[in-house]
Amino acid sequence: MFNPTTKKIKLTDDDFIFDVKNIHFSYINAIRRLTISHVETICIDIITIETNTTFLYDEFICHKIGLIPIICLNGFQLNHQFECECQQKENKKKYENFPKCCEKCSVTFNLDKKCIGDKMTITSDDLISSNENVMTVSNYYKKIKESKMKDIDYEEELFSVYDPIVITNLGKNQELKLSATSVKGIGWEHAKWSPVSSSYFYYEPEIIINKKINKYEKEKKVLIESCPRKILILNENKEVEINDHMKCNYCGHCKSILKNFFPQEPNFISIEPKKEKEGFSFRYFIESNGSLTAKDIVLKAIDVCLKKLKTIEESI
Ligand code: SF4
Ligand SMILES: [Zn+2]
Repeated sequence: MFNPTTKKIKLTDDDFIFDVKNIHFSYINAIRRLTISHVETICIDIITIETNTTFLYDEFICHKIGLIPIICLNGFQLNHQFECECQQKENKKKYENFPKCCEKCSVTFNLDKKCIGDKMTITSDDLISSNENVMTVSNYYKKIKESKMKDIDYEEELFSVYDPIVITNLGKNQELKLSATSVKGIGWEHAKWSPVSSSYFYYEPEIIINKKINKYEKEKKVLIESCPRKILILNENKEVEINDHMKCNYCGHCKSILKNFFPQEPNFISIEPKKEKEGFSFRYFIESNGSLTAKDIVLKAIDVCLKKLKTIEESI
């Protein structure tokens, strides 16, 4: 039995890059699919528009607001709407003031803006939460930015990815007033609940160059220049060497250049996924949309996988 090994390459709140060696494609792909579709987040799902005199239709505004990432702080948890007591028949009377959901399974946001001047921009910062532990990601980073601006080492670019998301612009005397209810969900129901901006991996390449290439000066130079990722370099002995093979994107430029020079020798350079005892090696990239940290998304996806397997185990 061979076990996979992992190595962290980069870890921040937003990005997590790691290598996994010696694993079958299906396992790493299961994690990828679960990060996209089965990690729970909170998103706006029900919107009641009271006034909209902007130039956008109600539906257009609702769609934009639904896609705004929302963050939960201090371990705050909501019930799933379909599991919540407010949805059970016997409790309907008790919760009649909450027609769709209650405070245990939803958080309300309000937006109330009127343009008195010539122009006003409405953004995700203008969605005001009824719960201090739940807010839009841009509002959360705005708060952090305000506190960090007092630091001497403050770096503006760290926050630019979480700039407020524009909902609409208002002209003179135009108005937008609405209330929005956010609930828990997963990307499998609708992409707005997906916590990732991107989640993907690629096979670790194994690049093998035939040493004979070092005898051909002109061809060697063209080969090195052909690589868009600058992976092929000349070492101190003027021989072709590979520098950071993980940057290779399998584009095949180097292969086609050598094929033109040496049509009778098709295997001057070989670029294939590196084989391990139990499968292959992969580099995995995940970028969060801000609602969860990138590492939490991976851990939660693994947890979902284990829970599903446990259910199967217990039922057979
Ligand atoms: S396949 Fe493309 S990226 Fe990889 S070594 Fe060849 S030219 Fe460079
Ligand atoms: Zn409820």
